[in-house]
Amino acid sequence: MQIDNVTIVSPERVSPVRGASVYIHDDRIVKIAPFSSKVAPGPGEVIDGTGLYLTPGLIDTHVHLGGVPGMLPEQEQAHPQIAQAARDQFPKSYLYFGFTTLVDLSSTPQAMAEWNAHALHPDSYFCGGAPVKDGYPSNFERQPLRYQAMPYFIVEAGSAAALPDGVDASLHTPEAVVQRMQADGAICVKTYFERGFGAAHDLPVPQLATIQALVRAAHAAGLPVLMHANSSEAQAFGLQAGVNILAHGLWNWNEPWKVTQVTPAVQKILDEVLTTNVGWQPTMQVLYGEHDLFVEGFLSDPLLATALPASLIAWYKTKEGQWFHEQLAKQLQVEPAHPPHDVDAGAIARTKSTVAYMAKHDARLLFGSDTPSGPTYANPPGLNGMLEMRRLLDAGVTPSQIFSAATLMNAEGLGLSREVGTVQAGKRANLLLLHADPMQTIRAYEKIEKIILHGRVLDPAELAANH
Ligand SMILES: [Zn+2]
Repeated sequence: MQIDNVTIVSPERVSPVRGASVYIHDDRIVKIAPFSSKVAPGPGEVIDGTGLYLTPGLIDTHVHLGGVPGMLPEQEQAHPQIAQAARDQFPKSYLYFGFTTLVDLSSTPQAMAEWNAHALHPDSYFCGGAPVKDGYPSNFERQPLRYQAMPYFIVEAGSAAALPDGVDASLHTPEAVVQRMQADGAICVKTYFERGFGAAHDLPVPQLATIQALVRAAHAAGLPVLMHANSSEAQAFGLQAGVNILAHGLWNWNEPWKVTQVTPAVQKILDEVLTTNVGWQPTMQVLYGEHDLFVEGFLSDPLLATALPASLIAWYKTKEGQWFHEQLAKQLQVEPAHPPHDVDAGAIARTKSTVAYMAKHDARLLFGSDTPSGPTYANPPGLNGMLEMRRLLDAGVTPSQIFSAATLMNAEGLGLSREVGTVQAGKRANLLLLHADPMQTIRAYEKIEKIILHGRVLDPAELAANH
């Protein structure tokens, strides 16, 4: 296949390459050459790229592919057809919005096999999630189920007395869990520093020596380490432990919520992220995933119908489907009818000011939507990436920084840059054909002309939930 007379926009280049021909064989880009109308086209399919922009497919390095957002396991059981239609649509929804590569930050080979069984799906990788025993987020699952749901948990020295039946502490050292997740096919290690929020308080957090050992073991195995950290304490801890990527923005400060401008203490942490060149994922949609539950009309947005089956949207509108909204309303001590403007307002304002600071200082931003960040329907697969881009732009990140974060920075951060992240000969043909230059505007992703996955050309109309 060849794409003729196209403009290439690729993150390693400072400016677009106009009038190029890109040759693709099987799933690889094999050659890039200047387009000439005098050269007879090859035998394969020819796409006229006149007026179009060819870019790498987008990469989202913070997704959770295992469930249906906003649906509890027992609700899935009660509505098997709705759940099945949703699970069948999600891989296509990511592709529809341009995401050809995904990294699930905490999964298992079994869950990934289920996802990859779909006929059409983005290239999907996973990290092994390594919380300390009973730490976040394993606390959300009942005991002893949690030990199977998150099999790479760490048992710290000294806590062996409280071990559940059948758990061998020697298989839960930092070294042992890294070895096991790598053997299982994980490309990264995810760990957590979270004392809790909402109903969960005083969760166990790791000791510094534990995470330092985890980082050493991961690096010896060639795996990057990501840490769930959205508080000052957690991000400072992650920096001290030497993790590679902080998997959230910084919105929990040791300050009253009304303080939203970057303080000296917060700036000190951000500056250290900058000087150590640690990757930083803002994940602004974590907060908007709560905020938007209170936005009237969210479920009637026509864009949502491209990402989610109509049956799922209809279920979200039922009393049962509103369970998390109602729970959160109670928790935030707001009535469901309360105007939405102040849900998470303090955290959102802080996130904007820290993201603005990091963008201004050209931090190593990695793009992650955290889909879904909790049991919220306001983090819809695929669309949530576009929403994250809008939030980043709104906070002061440039389209060019967003483009780079969602392509090359993500590929490099997760060790995938030999395969994806740029438009270069030798790379996998995971590409997008767009009507606008995404380094100039994120609206380039609003009407994707074609998605190319492993050299196969996909029409977005076929991928939409409401096609
Ligand atoms: Zn997450």
